[in-house]
Amino acid sequence: MRSFSYATAPDVGTALRTIADHEDVKFLAGGTNLVDLMREGIEQPTTVVDITRLPLTGIEELPDGTIRVGALVTNSRLAADPVIRTRYPVLAQAILLGASAQLRNMATVGGNLLQRTRCMYFYDEAAACNKRAPGSGCDAIGGFSRGGAVLGTSDHCIATHPSDMAVALTMLDTVVEVESVRGIRRVPVAEFHRVPGDTPHIETVLAADELITAIELPPVPVAGNSRYRKVRDRASYAFALVSVAAAVAVADGVVTEVRLALGGVGTKPWRATEAERVLLGEPATEEAFGRAAEAELAAAVGGPQNAFKIELARRTVVATLRQLLTEGSAA
Ligand code: SF4
Repeated sequence: MRSFSYATAPDVGTALRTIADHEDVKFLAGGTNLVDLMREGIEQPTTVVDITRLPLTGIEELPDGTIRVGALVTNSRLAADPVIRTRYPVLAQAILLGASAQLRNMATVGGNLLQRTRCMYFYDEAAACNKRAPGSGCDAIGGFSRGGAVLGTSDHCIATHPSDMAVALTMLDTVVEVESVRGIRRVPVAEFHRVPGDTPHIETVLAADELITAIELPPVPVAGNSRYRKVRDRASYAFALVSVAAAVAVADGVVTEVRLALGGVGTKPWRATEAERVLLGEPATEEAFGRAAEAELAAAVGGPQNAFKIELARRTVVATLRQLLTEGSAA
C-alpha cells in the first residue's frame, strides 16, 4: 500500500476545504470498500480524510413526508429503522440481503452508493481493465464474464454495479444530496451513476471535490407494498446474479401503479421504466408481468457466459410481482 497522510475532519466545512485544496483525496467512512481498494493498490490517495465524526447520522422526517437520511447512517441502522421498515420495506430487505451483519454495521449510506464493481479483473493488476487503467482493454469481454451485465454495457466495460441498496433507492426515486465548497446540489439517484460508455472509470456524476451528505426518500405510498428479491449463487454473502425491487398497487385486477428496478444485470442500478410503462393498466397476471419484463430486457445483450441472466431476470420479475401480490411485503 502506498503511504498517505491521514486527517480527521471535525466538520463538513473542513472536509470540503481539504478535498478542494488537495489532489487525490479520499474520504474514509466505513472503509468497507476503500480499504480493500487501497490494499490492492487500485485506489492510491495521497490524503485520506476520516469523516466518521461529521454530524451526518440523522434519520428525520421533513414536513412534506420526505425521509432524510444522513450519509453516515450505517446500513444496519437504516434497515432497522421502524419508519423505513414500514414505508419502504423494499429498502430494508435490500440492505439485509446486501452484506453480512459485520459489514452492515460499518458500511454507510454514502459509501454504499460509491462502492466499486466486484469484477475480478478490476482487482487483478495483471489484467486489462478499462475501469482501473483507462485504455488498457477489458479482459472480462471474452473472458470470465458470468457475473457481467447485460444492460447498459459498452465495448469498453460490462461490469455490474454491486449495490443492492442502490437498486431499491432507484426504484424509490431517491435524491442524493452532495455538497462542495461551491454549494449544495441534489441529484436523482437514477442520474447519479453512469453507464460505462467509453469512460468506464468515471462511475458517477460526483465531482472530485464533492461529498455525499444525505439521501432523501420521497413519500411513495405504493412502496408500503414492496419487496426485494435477490438471486445469487449461494444463500449469503454473494453479489446478485439478478435482483428485483418492486412495488405494485392493483385495483379490480388491474395494475394501477408499479415501480420496478433491477440489480445484477445493469452497469448501474437499473430502473425498469419500460417494464413499468408496459405493465401499467394491464391485468395483474403472470403473463402480463412476463411481457413487461421482456419489454425491458429487449435491449439486453448477453455473452456466452452471462446470457442466462436475461431469462433469469424475466423470471425473477414475474416471481417478485407474484409474491408481492400473494404475500405482500415482509420486511
Ligand atoms: Fe474492467 Fe469493466 Fe472489463 Fe471488468 S468489465 S475488466 S471492470 S473494464
